[in-house]
Amino acid sequence: MTRGADSNPPAAVDLIRAKRDGHELSASDIGWLIDAYTQGVVADEQMSAMAMAIVFRGLGPAELRAWTDAMIGTGQRLDLSSVPAPTVDKHSTGGVGDKVSLILAPLVASCGAAVPQLSGRGLGHTGGTLDKLETVPGWRAGISGQEFVHLLSTVGCVISAAGADLAPADRKLYALRDVTGTVESIPLIASSIMSKKIAEGTQSLVLDVKVGSGAFMRDIENARELAQTMVRLGTESGVRTTALLTSMDVPLGRAVGNAVEVAESIETLRGAGPADLVEVTLALAREMLALAGITADPQAALSDGRALAKYREMIAGQGGDPDAPLPTAPHSQLVTAESAGWLRRLDAMAVGTAAWRLGAGRARKEDPVSAGAGVICLAKPGDEVRAGQSLLELRADDPDKFAGALDALAGGIEVGPERPVVAPVVIERIG
Ligand code: URA
Repeated sequence: MTRGADSNPPAAVDLIRAKRDGHELSASDIGWLIDAYTQGVVADEQMSAMAMAIVFRGLGPAELRAWTDAMIGTGQRLDLSSVPAPTVDKHSTGGVGDKVSLILAPLVASCGAAVPQLSGRGLGHTGGTLDKLETVPGWRAGISGQEFVHLLSTVGCVISAAGADLAPADRKLYALRDVTGTVESIPLIASSIMSKKIAEGTQSLVLDVKVGSGAFMRDIENARELAQTMVRLGTESGVRTTALLTSMDVPLGRAVGNAVEVAESIETLRGAGPADLVEVTLALAREMLALAGITADPQAALSDGRALAKYREMIAGQGGDPDAPLPTAPHSQLVTAESAGWLRRLDAMAVGTAAWRLGAGRARKEDPVSAGAGVICLAKPGDEVRAGQSLLELRADDPDKFAGALDALAGGIEVGPERPVVAPVVIERIG
């Protein structure tokens, strides 16, 4: 089904039927649909039927391009042309213990690039960067577009909430997909992420596509297809884009929660971070600097304190006090090994769900989160453990939350007699 640019507006139901039956939609039909949905002319029930048809039928390359462009076109594009340094951003598809942005933005900025990060809040078992940073006393996520460009030009990095005028179609559509079982579609995920990143105005972008039990993408083939789709969309829009596939079977680092992840990020910026977190952060930093055309060694910036100094500047620039103590939860409970052996599995989804039930995450987007709640992984797969040794520390504001967290962990921890092979965290590069 293709229609001329000067045809009458299509009926939404005709477009839904066409997609349901496997026909290709024209760019003008897609443009009309997205715009009409954003304006409230196409109803939620019609768009949810269309989203479900796309879950089953997909979108061809031309349709995906048109869909993404139409979503960008519903809002503003940020103009970062006045920023003196090359701009480069990172986007992660989300994982358990993924606090990489907190380290990476100041690290890459300390090497000479400008890092514009528009981030979100957590929903479900993965935390949100803004929820983590909001545990720093005084820190503000909501800054104006003018302040954003000013901080980017002076400090070199800024992490803030995306304004309502950035791809508003996606905001509406994502909320709809969330409650209609239509999140899990590669073209819908790719267009959702890339519409926001392209509208953000960055020159370059590195995607961290997580694969494994704690990620959106459970298997490598789907993760690769998502990464390739997003890299193509970015490149076609003039954004230099590459992707890394990284493992998310095990929580990244040791801390899972909000303030606990900020504390671990600061430790990593002091040069004392856990190996897996440092490996992913440095790999992403090298990709970002290469895209920005900067020859600098991020490892050196991490070791000599430049990245930490930039973090302090970034926090202070948004009203935060980098020296203020972080909130802690008043109650804790240990989870111990039942037998001696090797820790073979620490399931990311189980730990993420436990942290969420302890209060670190939210069930509905308007729910508050606990600053201090979370899980500290005292052992990681590949560690030898004694019977009775503490494997996890659970932290909560309310001790009644421990039972639910322990239920979430059932079956997620495995100690066995054989030493496991611990695979590298960075799996593949796409670009
Ligand atoms: N994150 C997004 O921004 N959009 C999706 O569709 C999925 C994850």
